[in-house]
Amino acid sequence: MVATYMRIDILTIFPAMLQGALTESLIGKALQNKILDINLVDIRSFSKDKRKKVDDKPFGGGAGMVMKPEPLYDAIKGVGVKKKNGYYKKPYSKPRVIYMSPQGKTLNNEIVKNLAGFKHLVLVCGHYEGVDERVMNYVDEEISIGDYVLTGGEIPAMVLIDSVARMLPGVVKEESSVTNDSFYNGLLDYPHYTRPAVFKGHKVPDILLSGDHNKIEEWRQKESYKRTKERRPDLLKK
Ligand code: SAM
Repeated sequence: MVATYMRIDILTIFPAMLQGALTESLIGKALQNKILDINLVDIRSFSKDKRKKVDDKPFGGGAGMVMKPEPLYDAIKGVGVKKKNGYYKKPYSKPRVIYMSPQGKTLNNEIVKNLAGFKHLVLVCGHYEGVDERVMNYVDEEISIGDYVLTGGEIPAMVLIDSVARMLPGVVKEESSVTNDSFYNGLLDYPHYTRPAVFKGHKVPDILLSGDHNKIEEWRQKESYKRTKERRPDLLKK
């Protein structure tokens, strides 16, 4: 089951990194159309420290700083609690708390489809060396966007939101755009062409100009299979 409305709280120390990205394109439209409700939650506002400190030196020594557990715990538990300034709204349902982490399960279309079934996600973005390990007691799962390390969890959170939002009805205009996309049914997408029919001597395959919809569909399925076999044979094994 896919949610028809989803609320997402992003816990971050750099909310401005996400502001622009969330107002553009289909995600911006989904927010306007109230299919998505995204709240940027500044972890720093939960710090009880005079200077709003959210990190500290690692126990045992070593390079870098570690995000302190208290502000993160308060932020996770504070999501949905109405604050004095009216910043937070009541939670829609029990949220799924996800820590964006290079050590988590690698995001793929199966995980994306599964997450699209939740009505409320809380995404925790780390920085520096990461977050104090004890925060994991309040996290449901860790998700990575690939085997490389970024400076913070904001871009991974954005990747997750964008991929999950596409699954929600009404975000992408035509549902078939999503269901024909790569990975949805275990195959890569077929090649796409638009006008002009000839571009710098390169012709569009004749079949696409034939008007025979059954044959076009057959060609697309064959191309989809051929591409998958050539580029991602591992998908066919699955
Ligand atoms: N010391 C950590 C490690 O080696 O596993 C890396 C920390 S990284 C510099 C800082 C933060 O960026 C992480 O806490 C995480 O939130 C985010 N991050 C970095 N790479 C990521 C990835 N591939 N997927 C998801 N989040 C990532």
